[in-house]
Amino acid sequence: MLLEIRDLWVHYGKVEAVKGVSMALEEGGVITLIGANGAGKSSILKAISGLENPSRGEVRFNGQVITGRPAHEIVGLGIVNVPEGRKLFKLMTVKENLRIGAYLDRDRARIAKGIEEVFERFPILREKQNQPAGKLSGGQQQMVAIGRALMARPKVLLMDEPSLGLSPVMIDEIAKLIRELRASGLSIVLVEQNASLALQLSDHGYVLETGAIAVQGRSVDLLTDPQVARAYLGA
Ligand code: ATP
Repeated sequence: MLLEIRDLWVHYGKVEAVKGVSMALEEGGVITLIGANGAGKSSILKAISGLENPSRGEVRFNGQVITGRPAHEIVGLGIVNVPEGRKLFKLMTVKENLRIGAYLDRDRARIAKGIEEVFERFPILREKQNQPAGKLSGGQQQMVAIGRALMARPKVLLMDEPSLGLSPVMIDEIAKLIRELRASGLSIVLVEQNASLALQLSDHGYVLETGAIAVQGRSVDLLTDPQVARAYLGA
């Protein structure tokens, strides 16, 4: 198993945000975490990426326990975040934002090649490379956030609400992109409030309710599960 989470707990003071969650991601697979606001989805991603210290449980990557390692080491292993709300440096240019994604890299030629690859994937970013990132549309900013993550040459992408606040056309674009990233060999943990989209893009889904997994299963099965449909798919 590429990424495995066992009995994970995350506390903020007395708040129990994540309560004994276990999940697994196979190499080349896509799993999704769905659930309402505050269910604990972001907290799980933060615990995986070393941005929050879990109070219990472990995260394994390629069989090795990585719980408690600092965030930069986890990025170095190839687990890279695309944070909720993009978190770009809005006054810095698109190109500067991309370069930041390769901050662990000292090889200038490889960084330049990485930027070129992002421009090939997102031609609009080549056009806008010298503009402040904050001037771009929401969808384009999401491309910068994904491009920045790709600059770190990830094995696993942790994507937090990539469709949030985007137009339907842009959501289709992002969905297409996630399929392409997967086809190129990346493994993905997708956190979404758009449950129907997330289940269409993933192999396995975990439905979180107040910090714990309420239902899990193959995404195709969850899409037709009456309980999931009623609570999360607006059926
Ligand atoms: P959202 O979609 O709103 O991000 P989520 O499912 O990702 O929701 P989390 O952000 O992980 O949920 O939050 C889980 C719980 O932990 C919520 O009750 C939230 O209020 C609480 N929480 C999250 N971050 C903090 C924090 N830094 N300090 C205190 N409580 C927090």
